[in-house]
Amino acid sequence: MTAVRRVLESQRFILGEEVEALERDIARLVGARHAVGCASGSDAIMLAIASVIPERGATPLAGSPGSLPAAHRSDAPEVVTVPFTFFASAGSVVHAGARPRFVDIQPDIYGMDPVQMASAIGPRTVAVLPVHLFGQPCDIDEIIAAAGHVPVVEDAAQAIGAMYAGLARPSGAGPRSAGTMGRAGCLSFFPTKNLGGAGDGGMVLTSDDSLAERLFKLRVHGGLRMYQHESVGWNSRLDEIQAAILRVKLPRLASWSQARAARAAAYDALFQESGLVARGLVTTPVSKPDRTHIFHQYVIRVPREAKAGGRDALRAHLSSLGIASGVYYPVPLHLQPCFRSLGHARGDFPVSERAAEEVLALPIYPELGSDQQALVVRGIAEHFGLP
Ligand SMILES: *Cc1c(COP(=O)(O)O)cnc(C)c1O
Repeated sequence: MTAVRRVLESQRFILGEEVEALERDIARLVGARHAVGCASGSDAIMLAIASVIPERGATPLAGSPGSLPAAHRSDAPEVVTVPFTFFASAGSVVHAGARPRFVDIQPDIYGMDPVQMASAIGPRTVAVLPVHLFGQPCDIDEIIAAAGHVPVVEDAAQAIGAMYAGLARPSGAGPRSAGTMGRAGCLSFFPTKNLGGAGDGGMVLTSDDSLAERLFKLRVHGGLRMYQHESVGWNSRLDEIQAAILRVKLPRLASWSQARAARAAAYDALFQESGLVARGLVTTPVSKPDRTHIFHQYVIRVPREAKAGGRDALRAHLSSLGIASGVYYPVPLHLQPCFRSLGHARGDFPVSERAAEEVLALPIYPELGSDQQALVVRGIAEHFGLP
């Protein structure tokens, strides 16, 4: 309330001291040279993709913003991304004037498959957009290596502060924060994210000075000097009130993410004890040893072949017990009606399709009690007829 009052009294509401301070603090926290606040995580992706399409950021009027038919043009610039993610990952690519080119994910950590990515790169590829899903970094070293000269833009909307050491690296380069390993990285401050505002907000991270300059312009109609526009940008700015609130919450982020990870470990143990895992009725999330998982979501899987009606029946049972759960994401993006023109059919990305049928996110947040977690797991055991 003190922070909000400070903004109200200043009567400066957009792109002021609070936003600058938040940009500085987050850049320092994650180890990026620049952080560019914007209106949402979706816009962060749109701006980042637009900034790496050379003609978009530099020359006047290369494709008009929001030119949706871009995705339908076969000669459009392409961005390689995954179908198992929140809609914005691909929607924002279209808003930036490019066409999503989907490749499948890895079955264990839901990240982009680097091998399939490599074979999807072609002459029109302008960027690769992997997603660090549920709070765990994907195999970003392998993706960057396979992308070659093509810029990698990380969708780190769910993974702020998650660290990646990359044990596979030949030279131990030290751990890096999600969103700082590609040419640019995108964060979201949507209220449910690990660092959530009191409304929408987002940020682009980059350590490339010229890219940062383009981003600072693109978020304010393509020009930093009033009424001088070098390119056609957008109105995508971060509000001072949001930045002020986020600055109050930022120092607590690390302890919140640790608390989520502790709750995740407690769920793992409860699932082991319950016999659900040993009987193959449920699988718990896979965490790789060379990175931290900040558990934006704790996602179990109910194998398609499981008895008792699979994931959806379990979900209904939990709901009858008053236990909330979520499915992220029930329809892979290549099967969305708006992307029909890309010409995909069921079966094109089987790993994503199976995940969409099997995943179930359980309640997780720093204040979740161990008694509540026990109730959740007991409810699941009960559904499958375990004592
Ligand atoms: C939340 C989210 C976004 C979009 O962020 P908004 O702030 O809601 O626009 C993009 N990608 C992923 C993976 C997300 O989880």
